[in-house]
Amino acid sequence: MTETFCPMPWITQSTRNNGDLRICCQANVGEDQGLIRKTVPGKPFYYFVRTLVKYNPSPWLYIHNRLKGKQTTEMANDAFHSGREMIKNAWVSKTALFRCTYHDEVSWPEHMISEMLFTALEHAEAYYKKTKEQQKVFKEHDYEFETEITMKTFADTEEWVSKIREKYKAKERIIGESRLTLTYFDQWDFHSVGDVYNAQDANLNEARNNPMMKQARLDMLEGKWPEACTRCKNEEAADIRSRMRYENERWSTGKNYSVFNKEIAKEITASDGSIDTTAIPTRLYDLRFGNLCNLKCRMCGPTDSSMWYEDQVKMFGETYQDTRGIVKLTKVKGKYKPVDDIYGWYEKSSIWGQLEDNMPNIEHLHMVGGEPLMINQQYELLQKCIDSGEAHHIIIEHNSNITNIPDRAWNIWKHFKEIQIGASIDGVESVVEYIRHPIKWSMIERNIQALDTAEGNYKLWFAPTIGILNARHFPDMIIWALEQNFNRFNVETWKPPVTAHPLHHPKWLNMKILPLEAKKEITEHYESCKPRIRNLINRKTDRGPGQKQKLYHTTIALLDQYSTLMNQEDWSDLMPKFWELNSKLDDIRDEKLQDAIPELYELIKHTRPS
Ligand code: SF4
Ligand code: SF4
Repeated sequence: MTETFCPMPWITQSTRNNGDLRICCQANVGEDQGLIRKTVPGKPFYYFVRTLVKYNPSPWLYIHNRLKGKQTTEMANDAFHSGREMIKNAWVSKTALFRCTYHDEVSWPEHMISEMLFTALEHAEAYYKKTKEQQKVFKEHDYEFETEITMKTFADTEEWVSKIREKYKAKERIIGESRLTLTYFDQWDFHSVGDVYNAQDANLNEARNNPMMKQARLDMLEGKWPEACTRCKNEEAADIRSRMRYENERWSTGKNYSVFNKEIAKEITASDGSIDTTAIPTRLYDLRFGNLCNLKCRMCGPTDSSMWYEDQVKMFGETYQDTRGIVKLTKVKGKYKPVDDIYGWYEKSSIWGQLEDNMPNIEHLHMVGGEPLMINQQYELLQKCIDSGEAHHIIIEHNSNITNIPDRAWNIWKHFKEIQIGASIDGVESVVEYIRHPIKWSMIERNIQALDTAEGNYKLWFAPTIGILNARHFPDMIIWALEQNFNRFNVETWKPPVTAHPLHHPKWLNMKILPLEAKKEITEHYESCKPRIRNLINRKTDRGPGQKQKLYHTTIALLDQYSTLMNQEDWSDLMPKFWELNSKLDDIRDEKLQDAIPELYELIKHTRPS
């Protein structure tokens, strides 16, 4: 088991596509997405909405419902989630700070108490009103239903929060006499719920010592997972090489980067988790410049790709949730655009000056988009690095769809210490063309060859995202990569032929939703591909027996990890959602799953609602 420690909270700065600062780009699982928020002073009063729901049917109705196979719990669940959008927005704007739910251990949600803490009276009232609207529905179905708003002072609220935290930690029953247990719980530090620092105008160094970053450092030093690091935690649990693991490798050898490890971290961290940001400058930037992109991959969306706007409107309507609140799309000259262009933050931003000031200390510049190679401003920064003689110590990294590499990029890249490109290619031929519309395989093949032979110091890898659409095809892509005998793509001895990442979002494209019989067939397919993989590796002339053995083991381990991950949980109740949304996209784009990925279609077609 890998030790829980990651250098990122000490040496890295990261932005979302909208410029919001966050702990790192992997922190995209969980409620607050690792965002770095300003501190706010305590308020004199906080508002609580407490709701009690208890199923109390007449014996006759209970038996009548059960005989008809009616799930009373489903009805309650739907009613409870009807205010979801409103709550989500209150969560994003941090006017709702705390939510805990107590439920009956035996029959959730037939007896449930939910408590929400708000900072603003108007949001508490809106939530109360929304909840009250449900009263009639619940009562019709024989539920007892009560809801109320109360007000507490700052001191009383703090006491309430700390009591709940203690009880939650101790897994104590909250209301012993009624068999209720606290099950659902989320929370924020009262003082760290202000606006998110945004790279457009933030003082980057100031943001490094905000409460969330300080707590993350203290957690890491204790070997605990910070709240924001759920994604790495989950990946490590499935024995997948998480970013935490490779950042530790990157900063441990002293080969390409200066050394940073837990011992150093201990020495430089104050007891409250803060660091001297002048003495410990940022060494790695992980920056997402807006959402300008030329593709609209199925697993993507409008926060990451401007090409998605039209399909977003056709699929879900003109609004969507971002970490800055609700984004509204409107038509300008026949094309949809956000009313407030939050993704153009980098065009006029103090970030460029701050990066220039820190240029002598930069060791790694990871620039992402959208499609990063389309962002003109980054080339100006890179040119400044060359002109000031700093390029030789900077490694540039891009996650790129490699559909379009401008001449400017090839010329600039030659001057840097190394160019690292993770090519976002999820499969070969029709598989990738279906997932990453409107990509053309012939175009990618040409650019793969150009990168594999270009002048300069390159480190290249294939970075497929593995979800339901390419789960069956995954070993075929590995076989294709082995057959090509690339000079640069995934050539390190320890590296399997592709550097895969599990798809986490959206859930309806996650490989865990596959029906059990499809998972069984896919697992068997992975097994059946292993002899062919061994054969191809044995035929390699550029590696000795030990290296071939190592390559075989890492490749097989990769297939095993993804099979474990896929089989870890059964989310097949999401298959109807997959059919609904994926088929909608098929119609919009005039594509067909059965034509593009027939092997997958055959495995799942029986689950398609008629
Ligand atoms: S543990 Fe993972 S999510 Fe957390 S800071 Fe490190 S790389 Fe990011
Ligand atoms: S290339 Fe990247 S940013 Fe563009 S649509 Fe695909 S996943 Fe989204």
